[in-house]
Amino acid sequence: MLKNISIKLKEVNFVALTGIIIISIILLTNFVKVLKYSYFELIDDDKYMNLSNNVEYFIPKDNQYAEINQVADNSYIKFEKNNSKNIYFPEDVQKVWLKLRLQGIQASTDNIMYIDCEFIENIQFYIPTTDGKYVTEKPNEYFIFPYINLPENIDFNRDIYINSTWDSNVFNLLLAKDSNFYIIQNLLACFYIGNLGVLLGMLIMNMILFFSSKDKKYLFHSLFTGSLLSLLYCLSGMQKLILGFNSNNRLIALGAMAASTWVLFIYSYLDIKKHMPILNNFFKLSILFLVLSLYISKIIPDGFTYDILYLQMILVGLYILISIYSYFKFGMGSIYYLVGIFILFTGFIIYILGSYGLLEWNIFAFSTCYPAASIETLLFTIGIIKQIKHEKEVNTKLQLEVITDKLTNIYNRRYFEETVVNKILQLEKEKSLVSMLVLDIDHFKKVNDTYGHSTGDLVLSETAMIIKQCLRKEDILVRWGGEEFVAVLPFTDSKESTIIAETIRLSIENHKFKFVNKITVSIGIAEKDVVEDFHSWFRRADNALYNAKENGRNTVCICYTNEIRNNS
Ligand code: GH3
Ligand code: MG
Ligand code: MG
Repeated sequence: MLKNISIKLKEVNFVALTGIIIISIILLTNFVKVLKYSYFELIDDDKYMNLSNNVEYFIPKDNQYAEINQVADNSYIKFEKNNSKNIYFPEDVQKVWLKLRLQGIQASTDNIMYIDCEFIENIQFYIPTTDGKYVTEKPNEYFIFPYINLPENIDFNRDIYINSTWDSNVFNLLLAKDSNFYIIQNLLACFYIGNLGVLLGMLIMNMILFFSSKDKKYLFHSLFTGSLLSLLYCLSGMQKLILGFNSNNRLIALGAMAASTWVLFIYSYLDIKKHMPILNNFFKLSILFLVLSLYISKIIPDGFTYDILYLQMILVGLYILISIYSYFKFGMGSIYYLVGIFILFTGFIIYILGSYGLLEWNIFAFSTCYPAASIETLLFTIGIIKQIKHEKEVNTKLQLEVITDKLTNIYNRRYFEETVVNKILQLEKEKSLVSMLVLDIDHFKKVNDTYGHSTGDLVLSETAMIIKQCLRKEDILVRWGGEEFVAVLPFTDSKESTIIAETIRLSIENHKFKFVNKITVSIGIAEKDVVEDFHSWFRRADNALYNAKENGRNTVCICYTNEIRNNS
């Protein structure tokens, strides 16, 4: 299974690139759709009226299950003005009431109230009507967006009461002022899905990259992308569509997952243990905190969900500082990665500032983390691909250096012993023909003695080049040592190899070498017998070469099995 997933790097580059292109197109088309409408119009006061500042919340003091009339009377309740977006409930409180002062605020056409709240199951609206009564309404959902259709006979001069249980702790109420509610929600859905699509694509891509590189830092980044996807997925309220469960604890859990995999990733990506040993304990503490925050999430009231998430974010922020520092100090990490994580963090900072009321809390503020996360994973995936490609190139270069003879630029004896012998065994298994040539330059000592060692070197590399040109693609040429070469010719019998050897001999004889002018070679040939081992085969080819030397050099000789016959 794992082996199937693990595909060759070359293919991964292709898959990665195609994936990125497809996903970018999905993202861009969704972005264009949103931008075409003018995304900023969505937060325009003309479209939505933010009602958050008109909300007061209060806790029933003696009777948690007070009726609407008692609540409206103010007789059983304790008021607490709530200006911040987050509403924290004491642990012993099951229910909370919110009072929304409309004070004559009125939508022009459709009276649709959009509720920015993930958990709407336990929210009940008591809407005043012109006949002096209240009608109860539960939020509906358009796609993932909860809303209330205000009744036609609503009395805008009286307060709306909202009853909620403790798990519906984040509220933002927006009154849609025109009939574009559905268009806007459709565009927002495109926006969310586009971004989540990018994250999903990048998750798959990162997993592929991990399986192809087997490097655990890429596994950590895959897990980080996955938990980021789940976190945003749940923040958008979409989990209801598929999983159908609600709890703020899962946000903490997913936040802890995202933060811890991120910290683990940074730890192994920057090799903190080696480069910054001082931070080793800090790393252990962070992981401990993150694991602990999972436990904390079970015992503390839900109201603190976001505070714990923010603490996790601060921790991630510290690690971002570490990576920026190490980038400049040690030149580690990729610039893609740094830019990506910076964008992601900025997105979440806007989200946090918005939710604490330090920035205007609107659709823009709570959506920035989506494109930020998409861009981060996109950029980093590109960074990973580049890095893996670079590592691969360095590796190939190193491997090639190990098996190449520096002077002649052909394979060395090491390659022969490590690779060619195996190939020969394979040919033997397949009962294929294979021949060997052993070539030796004639009177090479004289070349060295007359023209010097460096001219000798030139002759060696020129000779290697000529031999190579006479051979076919599947033939393997190695420098055996000194001025001796060995060529292995697969699928070739002694007759064919004689023709090739003759071509080599003549090419060298007719070649005008620099300084030296004329050089000749002697060549010994042996076709491998099915039953013989490598050493016996080589000895026969070497014998043939000896014969060629004996016969006056510049000659090709064959050694047949059990006999030595002169060929020229
Ligand atoms: P023969 O025709 O019998 O092969 O004569 P030869 O002179 O070529 O004999 P031999 O094989 O004994 O000599 C090989 C010489 O090649 C000896 C050595 O100095 C020289 N040689 C070996 N390696 C190199 C090298 O890398 N560069 C140079 N310039 N010379 C080398
Ligand atoms: Mg020689
Ligand atoms: Mg020799």
